[in-house]
Amino acid sequence: MTDFNALGLAEPLLRALADEGYTTPTPIQAQAIPLVLQGRDLLGIAQTGTGKTAAFALPLLHHLAARRAQAPRGGCRALILSPTRELASQIHDSIRAYGRHIGLTSTVIFGGVGARPQIQALARGVDILVATPGRLLDHIQAGAARLQTVEVLVLDEADQMLDRGFWPAIRKLTGMMSKNRQTLFFSATMPTEIAKIANELLQDPAKVSVTPVASTAERVEQRLIHIDASRKRVLLAEMLRDPAIGRALVFARTKHGADRVAKHLVAEGINAHAIHGDRSQGQRERALAEFRNGRAPILVATDIASRGIDVDGVTHVFQFDLPDTPEAYVHRIGRTARAGASGEAVAFCAPDELAKLKAVEKLIAMRIPAEDRRSEAARAEAAAGAPKPAPRGRGARPQGAAGRPQGQGRPQGAGRGSMPPRGGMPERKDRGWRNADFRDSGR
Ligand code: AMP
Repeated sequence: MTDFNALGLAEPLLRALADEGYTTPTPIQAQAIPLVLQGRDLLGIAQTGTGKTAAFALPLLHHLAARRAQAPRGGCRALILSPTRELASQIHDSIRAYGRHIGLTSTVIFGGVGARPQIQALARGVDILVATPGRLLDHIQAGAARLQTVEVLVLDEADQMLDRGFWPAIRKLTGMMSKNRQTLFFSATMPTEIAKIANELLQDPAKVSVTPVASTAERVEQRLIHIDASRKRVLLAEMLRDPAIGRALVFARTKHGADRVAKHLVAEGINAHAIHGDRSQGQRERALAEFRNGRAPILVATDIASRGIDVDGVTHVFQFDLPDTPEAYVHRIGRTARAGASGEAVAFCAPDELAKLKAVEKLIAMRIPAEDRRSEAARAEAAAGAPKPAPRGRGARPQGAAGRPQGQGRPQGAGRGSMPPRGGMPERKDRGWRNADFRDSGR
């Protein structure tokens, strides 16, 4: 297998990778780094968890260090756009870690916090700027930032940018940049709309792709529980008391729903926080810190808020509500089976969510092993009208999209599946964790 030395990266970067404990490039890194080093535009289809941050950050740092130039006042040489502040912060942390021996400057800007320190950092100019599109546009409109000097643009999680309505802002931003820039475009999914945008922004891009959606679904142990909507909270609290649960991420469809679930859990004596867009930056950071350090090992999140969160050792993902889009189901369950580990994902399905379940099962091309815990009344109602769920034993192993029993062999080169263990990551066995970490999700 390739090692990092063979990819042509500068020595200070190799040293930083050694500090991180990374020995082997992940598939997206092995594919993307040489192409980006050649100066090619890149279209990368990869979910979070595949190592895609390093796939763009390493060649970007290499490029900036190889052609040193004064960081332009009010501007930057490389711009990384991210859909959420959490992801922006994490990308910035990665840039600092990988660039620690290389002496380039960087800063991160996002909404929800004071603008003044950001304006000051921009005024001096930075080599690398990580930003959310809305706040960056605010700074530009206020005359505090300009983009004419951008040599490399990275658009991360383009599908989320689109979902969150950032596309008009991004179009404005890219319109201010030189056409001679190099553009790296990453998206977990590639619906037609994203492909069109990519086509607009990229020039003769090289394409790299890892982890097709179905392979994630095949690797995670999934369970589905048919349950009345009114009984979900009680069941969730009951399941969360299982000592096998180290750290669990619970997905709710709405901010309100996330709050209600977290409140119920707390009332039941279970230490949980809710995280969503109405929470202040401080509240989010506290919730995440306590999730990380294990003080509040249950995090109830909306898809958007959970996006880009990087916490090791999520043992379980619960879907309190099924998501509006089937792709989000796959992103959610992918939060647990990371770095080649397996994971457990439990989804609740109320009678009015059966259409969503059907869409999910169509996308992942398999039936999720199901249990029926509905009340007699709900069952009778379903029998009278709606299609009946097909209860199955827990032990049943679903057939993967390729007709392969779950967990028996993975497709070659399937992104996360073939990712080496992370550097510095504690042995999961020692902590009694069954699975790796979680990241990112649907909307
Ligand atoms: P990403 O998909 O960029 O969010 O990366 C997922 C996780 O994998 C991050 O926590 C990285 O620190 C870790 N990681 C990235 N590249 C490697 C590698 N080559 N070896 C081990 N861990 C890695």
